[in-house]
Amino acid sequence: MRLICPECKNEVDLKSYSKLKEGDVIECNHCGITLSISAIYEDGGITTEIVDEGK
Ligand SMILES: [Zn+2]
Repeated sequence: MRLICPECKNEVDLKSYSKLKEGDVIECNHCGITLSISAIYEDGGITTEIVDEGK
């Protein structure tokens, strides 16, 4: 399972998130943006949405 940050294009370190599921919120360890997982696929792909921290 790997995820490329949509903001900074670096690979987000997911090792600290052992059991990711849809709806979980993760933070990019490179740029600090907050992402919400919208879908996880069987092949390990992940779709995320950027969480607006100002809300
Ligand atoms: Zn990032």
